[in-house]
Amino acid sequence: MSAPLPWQQGQWQKLLARIEQKNLPHALLLTGHRGIGKQRFAQQLAELLLCNEKLPEPCGECKGCRLIAAGTHPDLRIVTPPEDKHVIGVDQIRELSHYLSLTALYSGYQVVLITPADLMNINAANSLLKTLEEPPANTLLLLLSERPAALPATIRSRCQVINFEKPAQESALSWLKAQQPDLDRQIAKTLLALAEGAPLRALEMANKDVITQRSEMLEDLEKVAAGRCDPVEITKKWLKLGKKESLYWVYGWLVDMVRMKVAVQPPYIANADVAPRLSKIAANIELSQLYKRLDQVSEALRLADNQSLNAELLLEGVLIGWTPRR
Ligand SMILES: [Zn+2]
Repeated sequence: MSAPLPWQQGQWQKLLARIEQKNLPHALLLTGHRGIGKQRFAQQLAELLLCNEKLPEPCGECKGCRLIAAGTHPDLRIVTPPEDKHVIGVDQIRELSHYLSLTALYSGYQVVLITPADLMNINAANSLLKTLEEPPANTLLLLLSERPAALPATIRSRCQVINFEKPAQESALSWLKAQQPDLDRQIAKTLLALAEGAPLRALEMANKDVITQRSEMLEDLEKVAAGRCDPVEITKKWLKLGKKESLYWVYGWLVDMVRMKVAVQPPYIANADVAPRLSKIAANIELSQLYKRLDQVSEALRLADNQSLNAELLLEGVLIGWTPRR
């Protein structure tokens, strides 16, 4: 098993103590930013509970550990929205209740991850409430959410909350350095800022080389703003790179542009390393126009999960708005 993340040690030790005292709650709600390590923490806890040797850490060799490693342990369930949907439906929770009514096959424990728990629709949440009110013995329900306020209060109140705060920048940077020793420190800082301080998300971005992608897209925007590129062509190109990713970039740039325009003191800028370029692109645009574009991009992000064309049209509209008037 990999060690708990450095910024999760405190929570981990507390849970270990509760397992030793046989005093583990039936339901935990793990909260914190996207990319902070909620899933990893939940997975590690599942590994520990489903190991047949009761050690302070899983042995890695018993049948339970081998099944976990193969992703086929029958006493571990992961409930997540189906690929073609964006909610966890009531059928999934009913099926889960049925599953929990059966006895554990191997370790004596049954562990369930519901993620993201805030994507349960209201019927699913109501159905889960019954299980939370009368939890079967030796069951651990792990609800994961970066937006716990979106969960019904009745659900929240029946879970013990474990919240993960973002680690301090230095601690996050040294963890990133340990994962990717070749990663340049300045780039690591930029990635961490873009990931809003969440180290696992920053690492994912580093692995995908998003800095290069951002640089190319920013160049495209500069060309559009200078009237040297067709905004419709650029929209097509960006959509191929990924609709949501493109929209996230534009959103982040617009936020930084607004911050730079309204700031009296030097503001916090997520894309600090390209701030002069952003400032130049925003130079001839009124603040009210930037806010309008920010609204359009937020709306496009909201629609991006649907198959509708609206998100694409909105992105195209934002880019067309950037072309210089003749
Ligand atoms: Zn084991």
